[in-house]
Amino acid sequence: MQRLIEFARSVVAWLWIGFLLLAGCSREAAGPELAQADFSVPDDSLIVSGDRQWVDTGVEVTAGDALTVLARGKIVVRQQGKFHRKQPVEVGPNGTFFFSEEVAEHYFPLPSGARGPAPCYCLIGRIGDGPPFFVGRRKSWAAERSGRLELGVNDFDVSDNCGQFHAQVTKPGVVQPVSFQEAVPYGVYSGGPCSGCSLVVFYVDGLRPDVVREMAAMGHLPNINRLFIEGGVWSSNTFTAFPSDTITSNGTMWTGCFSDRHGLKGQVRFSRRTLYSESYLEPLGPSRSTRVLAPQGIDKVIQNTQATSIRLFKGDEASTRWRSTQTSGVAPIYQHLRAGGSDWATGVLPLMTQMPPLLWARSLVRYLPYLHAQEAWKYIDNANAHYATRHLLGKQPVTIIWLPETDSFSHKYRRGQFGMTRRTIAQADVLVGNVVRELQAQGQLQKTYLMLVSDHGHHGGRQTHLSHFDLTNEFFYKRREMSPDGCWIGGGLGLSVRQHRFWNRHRGDKSREFVFLDGDSDGVARIFLPRGNFRSGKWTGAHCPADLLTYKISDHLPPLNLIESLTAVKAVHGSGEVQHPIDLVLMKLSDRHVLISTADRGHAVIDRKKNDLGRWIYKYTPVESVAPITNGEVASYFARHATVDPLGLLDHLQPRMLEHYYDEKTWLNLTVHTGYPDGVVAFARHMFWQENLQYREAEFAPDLVVTARKGWYFGIKESPGTMHGYPFPDSMRATLFFSGPNIRRGARIDEPCRLVDLTPTILEMVGFAFDKHEFDGTALRNIYEPAEKTVTPTPQPVYWQDVDLQAWYPLNYKPLKCSAHLPFTVNRPSSAFDLNGLAYNALLIGDLSILRLFDDVLFPLSGEEKGVSHVVESTDRRMRRARSTSVAEAVQTLNIPGLTLSDYSFTSLGNLMRVDGAINWVQERSRKISGKLAGSLGCQTILGTPMAHEAIDGTQQGFWEIYGFAQRMVVHLLDETILNSVENGADHMINLFRRQPAEVIVAPSPLSVGRSKISDMQ
Ligand SMILES: [Zn+2]
Repeated sequence: MQRLIEFARSVVAWLWIGFLLLAGCSREAAGPELAQADFSVPDDSLIVSGDRQWVDTGVEVTAGDALTVLARGKIVVRQQGKFHRKQPVEVGPNGTFFFSEEVAEHYFPLPSGARGPAPCYCLIGRIGDGPPFFVGRRKSWAAERSGRLELGVNDFDVSDNCGQFHAQVTKPGVVQPVSFQEAVPYGVYSGGPCSGCSLVVFYVDGLRPDVVREMAAMGHLPNINRLFIEGGVWSSNTFTAFPSDTITSNGTMWTGCFSDRHGLKGQVRFSRRTLYSESYLEPLGPSRSTRVLAPQGIDKVIQNTQATSIRLFKGDEASTRWRSTQTSGVAPIYQHLRAGGSDWATGVLPLMTQMPPLLWARSLVRYLPYLHAQEAWKYIDNANAHYATRHLLGKQPVTIIWLPETDSFSHKYRRGQFGMTRRTIAQADVLVGNVVRELQAQGQLQKTYLMLVSDHGHHGGRQTHLSHFDLTNEFFYKRREMSPDGCWIGGGLGLSVRQHRFWNRHRGDKSREFVFLDGDSDGVARIFLPRGNFRSGKWTGAHCPADLLTYKISDHLPPLNLIESLTAVKAVHGSGEVQHPIDLVLMKLSDRHVLISTADRGHAVIDRKKNDLGRWIYKYTPVESVAPITNGEVASYFARHATVDPLGLLDHLQPRMLEHYYDEKTWLNLTVHTGYPDGVVAFARHMFWQENLQYREAEFAPDLVVTARKGWYFGIKESPGTMHGYPFPDSMRATLFFSGPNIRRGARIDEPCRLVDLTPTILEMVGFAFDKHEFDGTALRNIYEPAEKTVTPTPQPVYWQDVDLQAWYPLNYKPLKCSAHLPFTVNRPSSAFDLNGLAYNALLIGDLSILRLFDDVLFPLSGEEKGVSHVVESTDRRMRRARSTSVAEAVQTLNIPGLTLSDYSFTSLGNLMRVDGAINWVQERSRKISGKLAGSLGCQTILGTPMAHEAIDGTQQGFWEIYGFAQRMVVHLLDETILNSVENGADHMINLFRRQPAEVIVAPSPLSVGRSKISDMQ
């Protein structure tokens, strides 16, 4: 029983993943002091007292004047802390993003906390009666208005502050730059990596690069600024794949291929064969995604056995077909590394081979408040960074540290990375610093490349809040409104709908009659429909594009053009305006053509084919008169006189440029500054499925893909946060910085690249040979210093206006109501009383750290640096870096700081790991002794020793393999089978009595006469 409890408990790490998954002056004119770190402010400068809101500088300003302010000093503010005690916090002129929860909602003079992008308590300014603006420790800018300059403190209540800032105000004649940056010219590929280096990747989920730059310029990302901006190179035009979602992006980042090869196309996988949906974002998601790419270990054995038995009973073709429905066969980066005898080292990641990583749960429990498993998503960054520092660094050539909280906070909190999330980003910077310090202490930093990357950006929060449009319930599900004489006069389509773990049925619809949608809280949705017509009950068989233009949803109604119906939808935005919430509707026309339709910018067709060299080339043509033709296909005609097109390319390119095919690199360059960067290639790569995926396409491809218009997202609930998935620049642009041996410093590359280039770049960086034809991406070379420098680069000045994102104004948030047609559900993952949450909390108790329990009881009021655990951890860290490797390894094996309640049982995971580590330790010592003995005997080894080691290694590996597999099976049983079935069953029973008919008869009102069907949704 003890073992069973222990085992079940260790399963918990799996379960958390579900939670965590649910940013014109000449150079001579520039004064050097602003761009330098240590400028001085004289003692007789202006005093800005911490308890005064505004201080008159006595400086009269005329609009257009260049102004420079330098400041130093400290003020002490009081923030509400633990147990409602006010705690003093010291801040400099830059202010802080480490504000307490209690002040987040306050109205600061310059919107801060949850309301805006400014740091709390920073030095601010205003001219005359103009709006306040950020000043910080240094700023040089051109005044926008005339009047008297005042300086002040960004605090909603200055009365309890003390201390003062000293500020020096000058009029330098011209605006001074904040820093200098080398611009890397296009087409420089002559550099290369140093040999024998490893790589540590900081993967900050959803981080916007423009936010990184602004926060760094404001002095709030000191580590990132030192390592990556001043000490590294920024690839400023890096784009992810479409949709700009975590799962598709991870497939692309870690395989070096697009989704038409790796097959991870959305957050949810819906099977047309079984009508069953599985999410890549749930606890089993990460292992599901790796199994799609390339199964490992026991999964591989099982799959081979299944394929063999299918071959025996049903023949070769059936076996091949079955195998290709299971996996895409595209090798992820870890498979390339394993082929070379290495591996990657990761904590939790959206795509994982070892799930959960052993002992990872304990890193999480260190930070998670007691019995708050439902809030685990707020502590993953700390857990992953801690886990990497303790268990991963220095073990493998590639270490990946995923910091997902930036994305999770952006989704949930007001204004995303222009609000509350800035605290998370500032915290991520601290974690980056901790990891780099550990690398340095271990003596590895000189031979380590560092990478800062995000999988996508975020849309919204800067100038507007987003509104949700419930495509599922307000368009597909909502009842049709019929006049008494049987005419359809409004409402929705009246169809039963499904999302993952969500059913909404109409009375009378059979179990196979529904529309499935993948796309909740997202800028994109993928729509699956029964083939032919809604009542066909047929989900498999050939995709027939013409059917969607003449789709019958009911026997007594004429067929619908689904594309037109979708683009015509209107809804009321939070701003009060009636808008079209749907931007693009994408449909595959044939194996070569994709149709893009809009409400107001016409249609276009992307045509893709292979050129003589076997590379893909693409043509984009605006078309008109899109209509079904007799053979089930859809025809359209070249729109010769088009002035607009769906992707807005005619605004940037001559119409005759669109008459030709171009390769992928050219398309990326042509579209980089458009509203849909890399759109032509990205849409095609998403809508097509290559030969290795043909069986998966038949089972998993949607009929239509729709994207949300600016300011909107698809979802059933309102959120003040920001979203991704869109093809827009802010969502498609990813963060990508490098630093390390031979990497350019203080440089910026504007030449565009894609995240698909990541895997080949990484493999080349750590010295692994590969066949470049295996990848769609190419290894980036322009990040390195060129072998021969022909010209010395001139650093370009960077001004405050280049980094200022101008999001300082407060935004009003008006949440829209949820659809009146939402079904009831008992599944509430954010609640402590959710069934899964209760189970996790009960299971977690054994993972509580003994040292933390000590501290919380003995020192309840102290901050982060806690008594007992702090002492034990720092001693442990010092000893692990001991000069004697045997001492260091022995300390690591014992893992004293990782001691948990469950370790009172000898068979706990912690103790099993200690035994495993001890075996390695003994093996390593005996190897050395055996080597020395053999050396003195004049031979390479003592007979039998290597074989004995191999047998021990094999047994150890086999044990952990089975352990991991069994854990996954238990999660499947507990989480996906038992708990989900209980919840789904309860939902089903409750909603059974709430079902509505698909149509309702309404009395005609004069207003609704002539109103277009289904187009007015609110
Ligand atoms: Zn993501």
